[in-house]
Amino acid sequence: MVVVMAPGATEAQVEAVIARVRQAGGEAFVSRGVSRTIIGLVGDVEQFRALNLRRMAGVAEVIRVSTPYKLVSRHHFPSRSTVVVGGSGGRPEVRIGPEYFTLIAGPCAVESLDQILETAELAKAAGATLLRGGTFRPWSSAETFRGLGRSGLHMLAEAGAATGLPVVTEAADARDVEAVAEQADMLQVGARNMQNFALLDAVAQSGKPVLLKRGIQATIEEWLMAAEYIAQRGNLNIVLCERGIRTFEPTTPATLDISAVPTVQRLSHLPVVVDPTHASGRRDLVLPLARAVIAVGSDGVLIDVHPDPESALCDGPQALAGADVRVLASAIRRLAPLLDRDTA
Ligand code: PEP
Repeated sequence: MVVVMAPGATEAQVEAVIARVRQAGGEAFVSRGVSRTIIGLVGDVEQFRALNLRRMAGVAEVIRVSTPYKLVSRHHFPSRSTVVVGGSGGRPEVRIGPEYFTLIAGPCAVESLDQILETAELAKAAGATLLRGGTFRPWSSAETFRGLGRSGLHMLAEAGAATGLPVVTEAADARDVEAVAEQADMLQVGARNMQNFALLDAVAQSGKPVLLKRGIQATIEEWLMAAEYIAQRGNLNIVLCERGIRTFEPTTPATLDISAVPTVQRLSHLPVVVDPTHASGRRDLVLPLARAVIAVGSDGVLIDVHPDPESALCDGPQALAGADVRVLASAIRRLAPLLDRDTA
């Protein structure tokens, strides 16, 4: 069951609902989004009915939800959500949601201050409104570049400040979340960590918006349940990121599940963006897939760009540079408005 609070509901009214639910032996999880507060109830539904929550002050609606994800379900929110990133430290607010098409771009890893400054300029020139760069990177093999850690974070923040772009970076371990949240405007949870619940706890508590990638072997329901886990811990500022799933096709590291976009948009009110870079692992596929991502109605795209992919410390073969970045920018500028999307 979900209790939807009225737009002007006070903290005391929210607390009163929680207290009544807990007195009845249930559990209540509050989630505060930009424009609404909702409370997910776990426990005996029949007992909750008897509580007459609908009549309590500040309550707009009480809805029975049968899916295993309640707070992120579209069932009780017919309108889709917009997540706001940035807006502090002099960086602008960026909105990710149904009215926009957001380009999130940057290098797979921050390698040096010069490299991230140059890449940030490249991303901005392409129309990116968020700069993404890996600093605490997950292992995919023992040889993988793990990132520069804290020093990389500072470089990323400096590049964000220099270009006026809010920054996104991955937290790959719950112990790094505090440090990452001090510098980043948005925290990424990578595919390998989609069900790392200690990490999900920590990113939820950071209070920062979360970019939640789909696990490489995760069903859509499992992905939404991971989002629900974050939402139940009080953070509803979640953007889902489809990044391809493992199939029997060996040509690419993952198969981009384009149908996940409209499917998720039907099931959940959360924004959904797509990462064709990590799905394909190949530069020649990124542009055609990016066009498909716009056409399918995604709320944005996440693309690796690098000023010199040949010298990149990781994932160079999938990064766009030079003319390819200009083609991407032009595709977004021309196609996104056809789907009533604002790219500014
Ligand atoms: C990444 O975005 O840097 C990354 C490694 O992607 P994924 O977690 O989707 O594999």
